[in-house]
Amino acid sequence: MNTLNSKGKILIGEEVRVTAARMLEALRREDYIVEVATGSDEFIAKTRELVPDLAIIDFVMPQLQGLNVLKLLQKEVHCSKTGVILCLPRDLQLNQSTLTELGRVDLLLRPFDMRQLVEKVDSFFTRRRRAAAFGTVQEESTVVTEAYKPRLDVDSGRFSLWGTRGSTPTPGARFLRHGGNTSCLSVTYGQDKFIFDAGSGIRDLGLALLNQATRNLHLFITHTHWDHIQGFPFFAPAYAPGFEISIYGAEKFGKDLKSIFRGQLDREYFPVQMDDLNSSIRFRHLDENPIVVGDVKIWWEFAQHPGATVGYKIEAGGYTIAWVPDNEFMMGYTGSPIGITIDHPMVCPYRSMIDFLTGVDVLIHEAQYTNDEYPDKIGWGHSSVSNICLLAKFAGVRRWIITHHDPMHDDAFLESKLNMTRHILALIDHPCLVSHGYDGQTEHF
Ligand SMILES: [Zn+2]
Ligand SMILES: [Zn+2]
Repeated sequence: MNTLNSKGKILIGEEVRVTAARMLEALRREDYIVEVATGSDEFIAKTRELVPDLAIIDFVMPQLQGLNVLKLLQKEVHCSKTGVILCLPRDLQLNQSTLTELGRVDLLLRPFDMRQLVEKVDSFFTRRRRAAAFGTVQEESTVVTEAYKPRLDVDSGRFSLWGTRGSTPTPGARFLRHGGNTSCLSVTYGQDKFIFDAGSGIRDLGLALLNQATRNLHLFITHTHWDHIQGFPFFAPAYAPGFEISIYGAEKFGKDLKSIFRGQLDREYFPVQMDDLNSSIRFRHLDENPIVVGDVKIWWEFAQHPGATVGYKIEAGGYTIAWVPDNEFMMGYTGSPIGITIDHPMVCPYRSMIDFLTGVDVLIHEAQYTNDEYPDKIGWGHSSVSNICLLAKFAGVRRWIITHHDPMHDDAFLESKLNMTRHILALIDHPCLVSHGYDGQTEHF
């Protein structure tokens, strides 16, 4: 990047390469010049080369030893004006002597997402510009004067992926990193628990819920293909008295939702029947209004997938998550994504889904097939990678987690597929943050 056009020079001290890469990508996208060091020696060497305006240092990594790095940095004469953001775990207790040693630094509490990082960095540079404009070097950075004691019981929202595989579960050594359970997402906000799809991943979620206080559960089904309901017979709260479970789905399933769930528990397939379950279960069909539970709102929109399939959008505490695990966007289009605009005739039928997803904080959406595979699977209800890259672009998505991994795609294949996805996003000039979801992934918001 041209130094003249940059907003500032930043050096990141972070040992976890994946985290460092995400931070680097997020900040470079905001027009900062960014370098990364993964060890103390490298860090100090790079301060001399770069002379950063700002250093972002991970405090607790064992090799890097944040406090030592900070002290070394403060001794570097040419870095006397370098500001510091220290990344600390939310629950870390620091003693008074350490706090005194830290001096004037900004703090960024883990876990943080890339949006919070960019906001913190932007505000640092805004303060610095303001100070320069007023002819003073006085800055408003945090002056640490008393013991820092964050609470462990901070009440925020979180979402967890319990199943990220499509079609059928895939146990086995080649699938360990991403996991083999079929579709299931949970969203927690305050005392409310929302579950999206009941693939085999819902079994682990159910076991975890037995030990939690929440007894009101809201289960939203995108559609009733096996990989979205097959875990329900193994969902422990359904068997436990005291749990109230509301199950929501679209009306046009051919059969109604209740008889499909009841049929799955038919004596021919399973030893326990619906009437034997001890929880209180009720079924609700979706209508045109959003579902409102406390401070959480849930909207839905039809997806392109066999049968009546929907995607959901969840808003909690000002944060919006979209869950669209099965959707064949631009069905039948096998051409290049380069130069395709939102006015293209293949895109027009999908405008309502694009509008639905516009502005979400995180999109959890499939891209099941590579472009080599897709021509043989047209009409199966799943998309090519490049077509969903276009959807992300048209909806202005900044963060995309890919789910519903194909059972034929093992860990090594998925890694290559992710690289390909990033490459395509860059080609169409929409380099959003993209990752592959994995079973057990949890993020706070
Ligand atoms: Zn599916
Ligand atoms: Zn399906």
